[in-house]
Amino acid sequence: MGIVDTISKITRLLPKEVALVAVSKTKPESAILEAYEGGQRIFGENKVQDLVRKYESLPKDIRWHFIGHLQTNKVKYIAPFISLIHAVDSMKLLMTIDKEAAKNNRTIDCLLQFYIAKEDSKFGLSYDEAVDMLQSKDFLSLKNVRIVGVMGMASFSDDSNLVRSEFSELRAIFNKLKSQFFDHKAYFKEISMGMSQDYLLALEEGTTMIRLGTSIFGYRDYTV
Ligand SMILES: *Cc1c(COP(=O)(O)O)cnc(C)c1O
Repeated sequence: MGIVDTISKITRLLPKEVALVAVSKTKPESAILEAYEGGQRIFGENKVQDLVRKYESLPKDIRWHFIGHLQTNKVKYIAPFISLIHAVDSMKLLMTIDKEAAKNNRTIDCLLQFYIAKEDSKFGLSYDEAVDMLQSKDFLSLKNVRIVGVMGMASFSDDSNLVRSEFSELRAIFNKLKSQFFDHKAYFKEISMGMSQDYLLALEEGTTMIRLGTSIFGYRDYTV
């Protein structure tokens, strides 16, 4: 099946509050354009250099999401145009995003990344770390970033009970943060979870944003 048919087949399964992020990392501009012409507008990338190149050459109404680990010294390259940063995992990164957003006269939406997988992962906050962050003086002084929800990656596993429990944990974290820090803040509404191999479980567990690469564009070849 082609890219456009695959996207429309997946989109038809989604409740209207669930967004599809087409993860185009490592894929050429031509593949992105094909999806774009079929109506897809949100694309996810995880390398700053690739993202900037694609942003410059592709239609300007694409909403670009940064889905990977972001180094503070690279924030400035994407700050002028990025639509959502999925994986904020430190106060230092958040403060840098705030500063670069201010220079560009904009507010940048971000998700806090949580560590939910029962496997080694270098990135993501614990619930307590997030609470410390959200209560800190530094956080209260930020003016050009907006935390619109949470993001997480489940274990890379065939054990659907495990994956389901991790997604359910992320949703519980979202609910607690919502009531403690973002009550009545309508913009705090996103739970970014679910990739090609586990998005059906994520849908059952209340995702609002699925990030699909392989199932749309096929396997990635990292050797080219
Ligand atoms: C690569 C990537 C995806 C997409 O993975 P697929 O398995 O190809 O769907 C989703 N989220 C993040 C954070 C990624 O790095």
